[in-house]
Amino acid sequence: MSMVTTKRIQLRCTNCGHIMQYDGTRTMCPRCDENILEAKYDLEALRQGDWLAQLARRKPGVWRYHELLPVLDTRHVVTMGEGGTPMLKAPNLGLMLGLKNLYIKDERQGPTGSFKDRQAAVAISVLREMGIPSVVVASTGNVAIAYAAYAARAGIKLWAFLTSQVPGEKMREVAIYGAEVIKVTGTYDETKAIAAQFAQSKGLFLDRGIKSIAAVESMKTMAFEIAEDLEWRAPDWFIQGVSGGMGPIGVAKGFEELRQLGLVDKVPALGIVQSEGCAPMVHAFKAGQRIAVPVENPQTIIATLSTGRPGRAYELLWALMQKYGGAAESASDEEAFEALRLLARIDGLSVEPATAVTFAGLFKMVRAGTIKPDDVVVLNCSGHTFPVEKHILGDQWAHDVDVSDVGRKVSLPEEGLLSALEQVDAAVSRVVVIEDTPSAARLISRILQTRGQYKVEIAEDGPRGIDLVRRIKPDVIITDLMMPGMDGFQVIDTLKADPELSRIPVIVLTAKELTPRERDRLSGQIDALLQKGGFLDEELLQSIVKSLQ
Ligand SMILES: *Cc1c(COP(=O)(O)O)cnc(C)c1O
Ligand SMILES: [Zn+2]
Repeated sequence: MSMVTTKRIQLRCTNCGHIMQYDGTRTMCPRCDENILEAKYDLEALRQGDWLAQLARRKPGVWRYHELLPVLDTRHVVTMGEGGTPMLKAPNLGLMLGLKNLYIKDERQGPTGSFKDRQAAVAISVLREMGIPSVVVASTGNVAIAYAAYAARAGIKLWAFLTSQVPGEKMREVAIYGAEVIKVTGTYDETKAIAAQFAQSKGLFLDRGIKSIAAVESMKTMAFEIAEDLEWRAPDWFIQGVSGGMGPIGVAKGFEELRQLGLVDKVPALGIVQSEGCAPMVHAFKAGQRIAVPVENPQTIIATLSTGRPGRAYELLWALMQKYGGAAESASDEEAFEALRLLARIDGLSVEPATAVTFAGLFKMVRAGTIKPDDVVVLNCSGHTFPVEKHILGDQWAHDVDVSDVGRKVSLPEEGLLSALEQVDAAVSRVVVIEDTPSAARLISRILQTRGQYKVEIAEDGPRGIDLVRRIKPDVIITDLMMPGMDGFQVIDTLKADPELSRIPVIVLTAKELTPRERDRLSGQIDALLQKGGFLDEELLQSIVKSLQ
């Protein structure tokens, strides 16, 4: 990393536009008292220089973009390799939702498991640069964890104020880094107020969250990485579960800067998702309002997303969503947990509840037609679910096989053990899937496999499917319609003409828009019709359960 001594940063008031010099400590506009200021860089100099060529030689991570971050001298940087997270495809989820270009920006892969690592790295580096020895922060969990780790590394003392709704596992993680943990029995907004009072009375530096320059600037690095990964293109959508709004505001600013640098041609539309029990921004956006009505008593157990008073941040977000396009959805805790389980089961991604809210919102935006099948969608997979909370998994998550007696005996009672293990794999229903697209067949069998009680056999064309059905007499048949050679209609006709097979329920899963004639042809013959690229796992399972009754 090369040292930067000539960096010039200015501050612009987000209210009156007044321009000031950046000095690391200024928090307010002297003209109008606005307390959200925006950093301005010398983009023209970067544009004239060989920035892209330099980027090509740098390692991945937040600091490869240091010219556009508010640390004046890179020797002050506190880093643990944050940023540079992969953009993953979610093949099964994409197939299920019918999204061809769904990317998961995997922020779980940061040093403390959330995208707050970017914020902590930049904010703590700024504090180090200013020589500030201790800092007070209010948090719904992840900021405190990330700040605690980076503050430890920088030798800065952290006072972390957490609402008592934060899961105990997260609080303990803050404590292990040597931070002072203060649990506040109250809402997040009350916790913020108490932290501010404490900082003021003790004369300590208060981190201002979304209102601080470092927070928003750090989030730009997600935009830079996304654009670079898409070969200097902006996606159509950036989607995130939102509490204070720092992520989307920072990401939009990052794309704006790239556009001024001539590197991308647009800023993505912003899709924001909130918990139903604390969705002030979603309510305001849907009602077409520039100002959000505060939610005084958030009703969600997802503490990460419990900002009830978004204040000015929402106005900024609203303006961005008017300018670049946007969508807002809320999801209930149960919908989020459902999405969480689904994503973990079908694409191997275990995310924290706040991130699951984002996925649940994405499902709704796709179903509403707001997000189109060809849109390039990047979803901020903002955090990992290291401490899987019990209420998400339920009680029945393990099979108990007791062999504690076995060791004491001389000979192993293998039969007993085998029959115990047999119970573990006692398939209830057999399903034949007739499907020529391997990825679709894999998705269907994965959905059924993870629900335990189905044994799935796959046939890749009609004739083989019918043979298989004759041989194993399954409880249910799931078939595609469009297949080369014998199509699904012919398969169904053949099955229905055979008295031995005609009573086996048939579920059709198709990508084809059916004509009225085709619908007629199927009516009375099949038990359910599902649209590929438009169904969720629960719907498939429900059709099966219904057809078995
Ligand atoms: C902080 C956080 C959010 C909300 O982010 P904002 O951009 O500040 O609204 C969402 N998900 C996770 C995992 C977070 O830690
Ligand atoms: Zn001003």
